[in-house]
Amino acid sequence: MVYRSFLIKYAEIGTKGKNRYVFEDALIKQIRFALKEADGKFKVWKESGRIYVDAEGEYDYDDVVGALKRVFGIVWICPMVQIDNKDYENLKKEVVAYMDEVYPDKAITFKVNARRGDKQYPHMSEEINRDLGEVILNAFPQIRVDVHQPDVMLHVEIRHRINIYSLMIPGAGGMPIGTNGKAMLLLSGGIDSPVAGYMIAKRGVVIEAVYFHAPPYTSERAKQKVVDLAKLVARYAGPIRLHIVNFTDIQLYIYDKCPHEELTIIMRRYMMKIAERIAKDNGCIGLITGESIGQVASQTLQSLAVTNEVCTLPVYRPLIGFDKQEIVDVSEKIDTYETSVLPYEDCCTIFVAKHPVTKPNINVIRRSETNLAEKIDELMETAVETAETVVCQ
Ligand code: ATP
Ligand code: MG
Repeated sequence: MVYRSFLIKYAEIGTKGKNRYVFEDALIKQIRFALKEADGKFKVWKESGRIYVDAEGEYDYDDVVGALKRVFGIVWICPMVQIDNKDYENLKKEVVAYMDEVYPDKAITFKVNARRGDKQYPHMSEEINRDLGEVILNAFPQIRVDVHQPDVMLHVEIRHRINIYSLMIPGAGGMPIGTNGKAMLLLSGGIDSPVAGYMIAKRGVVIEAVYFHAPPYTSERAKQKVVDLAKLVARYAGPIRLHIVNFTDIQLYIYDKCPHEELTIIMRRYMMKIAERIAKDNGCIGLITGESIGQVASQTLQSLAVTNEVCTLPVYRPLIGFDKQEIVDVSEKIDTYETSVLPYEDCCTIFVAKHPVTKPNINVIRRSETNLAEKIDELMETAVETAETVVCQ
C-alpha cells in the first residue's frame, strides 16, 4: 500500500483552550522541521483535534516514519487513506480495497471502529461498524471478526473527509518543542550530556548549549565532535544554538593558583557560572547537565552541592538517578552513542588530579577561590565575550 497521508495523534495533555493552539502550532512547526530530512514534499495541516501529513508526490515511507518518530508530542503515527467521497456505498468499496491491499494474508481477525465526528452523517457509528464488517466478511471468506482481541482494528473516522487506518506506530511522546521555555545545556563530548539534553527537550523545552574547550590542549576534532552531537540532538530538539567558550586561560589560572585536588570542582563552578551568564544573556531560564549521583568524584552529593552553590538558575539534571547502562541505552536509542565514544580528549580530563576531593567543603573551596581574585573576573568576561556561536541542525 502506498499511503498518501499520515494521521498524527497527540496527547490531550496541555491541549485545553488557548493552549491547544500553541501546542498544535508548535507540533506542526516541529513536524515540518523533522520532515526536511525526509525525501519528498509534504503538506502538514490541522483539523480540530487532528494533524495530518500529506505527501505531495513521491516520498520515502521509512524516512517519513523515522522523521515523525523524532517529533516530541506525537503519541501515534497512523498511515491512512483519506477519502473525499463520503457516499456510503463508496465507503464500503474503499474499506474493502484497504483491507485487501494492507492485509494480503486474510487469515486474520478484525473489528471495525467507526467514529462519527461529522454529526450530520446519515449513518450512526454502530450501523457503520455492522455494515462495513459485513462487506469485509463477504469480500474475504477467510477473514473473521473478533470484537475482543482483533488482530486488526480498522478505524473509520467520519469527519470533513473520511479517514481509514489500522496501523498505529508509536511516536516519541513528550511535548512539542517550544511549549515549555528555553534552557541552556552544558554539552560535553561525553555520553551523558546529549542524553540529558534529549530528555529535557522531550518535555517541550527549547535547548541552547554551551561547550567549554581548551585549545591547544583540546583539539579541533574534539570540538567538531560536540558540534556533531549537537546536530544529533537537534534532530529531536530542533536547531540548537551552540556557544563555544574558550576555557584555556581560566583553567591554567586555576591550575596555577589552587590546590590540584580541588581543580575539578573549582573548574566546574566556573563552568556553571559562565554557562549561567550566557544562559541569562540568551533568555534561558534553566541549566541542564548530564550529572548522575556518584558517577565520578565531581558528582558525589557533596560535589554537586558545591557546584550547584554558584548557580541562581535552576539546574536540571534529568539523569540524576540513572545508572550508566541506563544512560547508554538511551544514547543508543537516540543515536548519539557512537559519536560520544569517539576517543577525543575533554577539557575536564586534561588537568585532573590523581586524587580529586570527593567530599569538598564549601568553605575550603571558597577560600581557595580567593587566590583567583586578581584576574578571574576579567578572564570570565573575556571567555563570555569571545564565545563563538554556531547553529547546529
Ligand atoms: P558527559 O558524559 O556528559 O561528558 P561525564 O560523565 O563526563 O559527563 P563530567 O565530566 O563530570 O561527567 O561532567 C558532568 C557534566 O558537566 C556533563 O554531563 C556536562 O553537562 C557538563 N560538562 C562537563 N564538561 C563539559 C564541557 N567541556 N563543556 C560543557 N559542559 C561540560
Ligand atoms: Mg565529560
